[in-house]
Amino acid sequence: MDDFQAILDEVMTAVLPVVGQGRVANYIPALAAVDPSRFGMALATLDGQVFGVGDWRTPFSVQSISKVFALALTLARDGDALWRRVGKEPSGNPFNSLVQLEYEQGVPRNPFINAGALVVTDRLLSLTGDSRGLLREFLREESGNASVDFDPVVAASEAEHGHRNSALAHFMASYGNIENPVPRVLEHYFWQCSLRMSCADLARACGFLARHGQGASGRRLLTRSQAKQVNAVMLTCGTYDAAGEFAYRVGLPCKSGVGGGIIAVIPNRCGLCVWSPGLDAHGNSVAGVEALDRFTTLTGLSVF
Ligand code: GLN
Repeated sequence: MDDFQAILDEVMTAVLPVVGQGRVANYIPALAAVDPSRFGMALATLDGQVFGVGDWRTPFSVQSISKVFALALTLARDGDALWRRVGKEPSGNPFNSLVQLEYEQGVPRNPFINAGALVVTDRLLSLTGDSRGLLREFLREESGNASVDFDPVVAASEAEHGHRNSALAHFMASYGNIENPVPRVLEHYFWQCSLRMSCADLARACGFLARHGQGASGRRLLTRSQAKQVNAVMLTCGTYDAAGEFAYRVGLPCKSGVGGGIIAVIPNRCGLCVWSPGLDAHGNSVAGVEALDRFTTLTGLSVF
């Protein structure tokens, strides 16, 4: 049994010099106001033990990390049909880019860039009439924290500053790849981004991906093959145009968000989450990448 607490302590000591580097997301006031000197990391084993360091219990804005959970909920209901609406190839472009959409007839490259997440949200709305409530219930159950919730201030702010996401959704609708009214799809997408969770919550909540699709209570959430698909798309697309560097340095399926969080999955072992708000040019947490790199180097735990 690895001494995960000692490893996390060692990782934190090693990365402290880079905490605060990078730039905090500033496209909405609620994110711009976050203290860049925060750092937390948590690891949840498959039997529910959680280890943590630093600000591992502090809730933060999950932003694009929510795209993983929205994908899982949708894939569970839509199966392979979903992949006709959204691809599974890395984009090599920034997460909010519009450029490939015209060449690809309104079908986004993958579910983890904004365009792809909007399509996933649209599909979930078509299949269930909801996305907001389903997502919140899912995360409360998988994290074991009944107080996980949305931040209405962040959601409203996302909408107010959401011109680019709005452009993406309308553009895809012009190709027939959005089925619901665009304002409704955007509203649900912005709620997803506004979820507030801690490293401990997220490390637990991504455990189903380490358990090959089985939820915290033993319930099957995804088939084994679907869990493999989600992990594969995280590895190749979860950190945007830095996914190659992540695979090289970290070697785990990961998903980042502009709130500064990154989740990572170690199949058969644990879920991980690191948070530090300073971002690099790709929108990934500077100290977060460093911490995951150190963690896999120290432990030898990676998918390679
Ligand atoms: N709310 C952000 C957006 O839609 C989420 C992006 C991110 O975390 N990469 O632009």
